[in-house]
Amino acid sequence: MIDSRQQNSLVTRSLRSVWHPCTQMQHHETVPLIPVTHGKGAWLFDTDGKRYLDGISSWWVNLFGHANPRINAALKEQLDKLEHAMLAGFTHEPVVQLSEQLAERTGHVLGHCFYASDGASAVEIALKMSFHAWRNSGRSEKQEFVCLKGSYHGETIGALAVTDVAIFRDAYGPLLQRAHVIDSPDARQSQPGETAVDVARRAAKAFETLLEQQSDTIAAIIVEPLVQCATGMAMHDPVYLQEIRALCDRYQVHLIADEIAVGCGRTGTFFACEQAAIWPDFLCLSKGISGGYLPLSLVMTRDEIYRAFYDADVTRGFLHSHSYTGNPLACRAALATLAIFENDDVLEANRVKATKLTAALAPLIDHPQASHFRQRGMIWAFDAVIDDADMASSFSRRFFSAALEQELLLRPIGNTVYLMPPYILDDEEIALLAARTQSVFEQVMAQESSV
Ligand SMILES: *Cc1c(COP(=O)(O)O)cnc(C)c1O
Repeated sequence: MIDSRQQNSLVTRSLRSVWHPCTQMQHHETVPLIPVTHGKGAWLFDTDGKRYLDGISSWWVNLFGHANPRINAALKEQLDKLEHAMLAGFTHEPVVQLSEQLAERTGHVLGHCFYASDGASAVEIALKMSFHAWRNSGRSEKQEFVCLKGSYHGETIGALAVTDVAIFRDAYGPLLQRAHVIDSPDARQSQPGETAVDVARRAAKAFETLLEQQSDTIAAIIVEPLVQCATGMAMHDPVYLQEIRALCDRYQVHLIADEIAVGCGRTGTFFACEQAAIWPDFLCLSKGISGGYLPLSLVMTRDEIYRAFYDADVTRGFLHSHSYTGNPLACRAALATLAIFENDDVLEANRVKATKLTAALAPLIDHPQASHFRQRGMIWAFDAVIDDADMASSFSRRFFSAALEQELLLRPIGNTVYLMPPYILDDEEIALLAARTQSVFEQVMAQESSV
């Protein structure tokens, strides 16, 4: 018997009227849907007053906790001044300040900022800009793109064309103008005796082989620097980025760095590309840039790209737009986020937190049922070793449910368990996250051995 309270619960109403993202809705017959009422710091709270440690930063967006007092205050102030104004023909202080501060962080190499709302749109913008810049320079035959095995760049039709995650892409295959897919530098592919650097050089060589044959028709390569997140936190050595930067220069191909997930300090430096001491031609940011508050994305590019569009002829301009381009509230949230990076010396503080969390996760590093433990900056991952195919395909959902029972929000990708917490965990939360991740993992793996 379902009583009327259950019938009208938030969960029931949601399942009736909301089509949830990235979900086979039928799975909610067994997998719980959590009705969230509020958040504070690293924690989310549900309608029953239960709490969950947000170990994946609410899909990698939240950097400084939920209901962060400083971001809240900045937004409240902005709200009474200007909620939105169109960015064609108009400008405003938040969008100018944000563009200036981001350009400053690249030493003004990437001095021009184009805005959108979500990550996939930023990717579309970078692809269109690259193609159009070549066309404006008399190289209209450069129309093709290159992406890596396992790449993820978003789920609109254009972004899916440079995405190589079968579960998101395959159903729409006929709609896509597919890109060249080349070997990933994923360090897990090392042969005996090979280092991560060797794997990176081998993968760069595959790119070189492609360029030798067809660089005339290739506009750009798009990569997720250092960590290919959505395919399961595949990490590579920074030398890969140096190698492909050099190849792009040699063969006149643009380098697009999709830092939507890895930017904003996630890998240990503000931009992941800094660890390779290179700059791309286009850099996409989203997710963490607004602190996880509001949809905001942007593409930064170089002066020479900008110049290729600068002309009296309107059609040589970049006429792309979105209704909420450069939204002042979102830009203000981003400015408050950047201010926290400055004021709290966040990158240094994160190094200390990361060392502590890695130490606390030590039992999982050599765990017989876990392989490829890896970490970069504020990302940790390992792969569950599962033989049974049915157990493997349901691992992620079983782990998610078991984690909720232990107050953790964690959503493995396939058999990869990962942590991508907000940057504000205290010592107690670090200890709790590590201990419970291990205990959930062991509980779920015990189901495996009992089959
Ligand atoms: C999340 C993500 C995107 C897409 O961003 P959305 O805001 O979800 O459209 C693109 N690239 C990478 C690397 C991402 O992680």
